[in-house]
Amino acid sequence: MRGPRFDAAVVGSGPAGAVAAITLARAGARVALVDKSGFPRDKACGDLVGPRGVQLLTEVGLERPDVLSLGDMVVVGPTGGRALLPAVPGLAYPGQAWAIPRSRFDTELRHAALDAGAEEVTARVGALHAEASGSALLTLDGGGSVVADFVIGADGAASRVAESTGLVDHDRVLWGFAMRAYVEQHVELPYIAFWDPTPGRAFPGYGWLFPGPDGRANAGLGLGTGSDRRAGARATRQLDAFLDHLRSLGLLGATTEAPRDGRLGGWLKMGMVGTMPARGNVLLVGDAAGLVNPLQGEGIAQAMDSGRAAALAVIERPSEAASHYIAHLRRTHLRFQSATASVHAALVSSPRMVSLVGRLLTTPLVARAVGGGWGIYWNDLLDGSAPGGARRVAQIAHGAARVLTAPAPNRRWLSTAFDAALDQPRPVTLGSPTP
Ligand SMILES: Cc1cc2nc3c(=O)[nH]c(=O)nc-3n(C[C@H](O)[C@H](O)[C@H](O)COP(=O)(O)OP(=O)(O)OC[C@H]3O[C@@H](n4cnc5c(N)ncnc54)[C@H](O)[C@@H]3O)c2cc1C
Repeated sequence: MRGPRFDAAVVGSGPAGAVAAITLARAGARVALVDKSGFPRDKACGDLVGPRGVQLLTEVGLERPDVLSLGDMVVVGPTGGRALLPAVPGLAYPGQAWAIPRSRFDTELRHAALDAGAEEVTARVGALHAEASGSALLTLDGGGSVVADFVIGADGAASRVAESTGLVDHDRVLWGFAMRAYVEQHVELPYIAFWDPTPGRAFPGYGWLFPGPDGRANAGLGLGTGSDRRAGARATRQLDAFLDHLRSLGLLGATTEAPRDGRLGGWLKMGMVGTMPARGNVLLVGDAAGLVNPLQGEGIAQAMDSGRAAALAVIERPSEAASHYIAHLRRTHLRFQSATASVHAALVSSPRMVSLVGRLLTTPLVARAVGGGWGIYWNDLLDGSAPGGARRVAQIAHGAARVLTAPAPNRRWLSTAFDAALDQPRPVTLGSPTP
């Protein structure tokens, strides 16, 4: 017995899925918004929405009065040196980020999608099958199904939709893992800290301490693991040692605890490498498409941007939605992601180099010279930035990264995959035919 029929099924109701569902429902489409979790649900995150995310929420009419607005950020080097990354408004985004716990943020976005007319389905999607009509049949764990003309896979880093449609090349994916805790402490500015657990050899990632709107701060530690996910557990094992490091820097109070029941870890899929973002009537968005920034782990803004772009492709160009969406990703995300994926891959395998770079960038002279451009470049804010010295520094960093990574395998994989996808749109392979 077939389940109800929809124009689109959005699988996953994080920021990517909620914005996709809002966009589709407002355009009059019949949308199922499927999530395995009941809401509110927690999500491992630093709880910061970057400037591009703030801009998108404003454009979509989802301004938030109850967030903590943040500006400048401080990066602390392995020996305690500091670099100020000033928040500068761009021409295309504001000079602020928002802090809001994900349990609240995601629940409110989901409500906005349901208010716009999306229909709520609480179930885990198990598999996708092709109907003779070309539609997709999504089977739900525990029984039941949903039929839809389009599927938007917004089901996070370990996407079932991507898996079920054969869109992932596992040997190529650039994985990261990060662990978050809440601490009862007021924190003035967001801090990023590079850390050498052994002097001269860096942890292959970084940690953070971010202010929160409710007086609690969010602290965490994350690392890159490449395609081998076994190293991810290191973030969990070493979180307490990193929190001690924050105490030794004076950023965390000597007696401030990070209770275990507030700790949560999660995977990050970065740099777009290893995942084809769309084929036929299946479009992957957000973490499912591997859109997390390989330099600093931000993914909410890209999730919402890709969710909106995929929905618009379905609404405006249904007969060529996949290639239209892929063209958007190529225009908007590919240049930054492909270069920084390769920079990331080179850095995580070189703890001595990361330690050296971290020390150099946080010496007072260098920090003053590059802080503005650093803030623009590594937050992927170059497009639409305001003219000036900081923008020029970011342009130099971007140019250098593009030149140095030109021969890198990740760059080659991405350009071959995107060229092939745009040249020859192929019908999707949705698991097995309808049972
Ligand atoms: C520790 C940590 C800290 C981070 N900090 C930041 C930060 O401060 N700022 C930032 O911008 N980014 C941060 N990120 C990245 C950010 O969390 C993600 O990029 C973002 O959540 C991606 O949104 P999404 O909608 O693509 O996926 P998600 O938010 O992961 O949502 C996916 C949804 O799909 C549902 N789902 C999964 N599988 C199924 C299934 N089979 N069937 C039905 N539903 C399913 C899940 O329940 C979930 O609700 C962090 C990540 C981690 C792990």
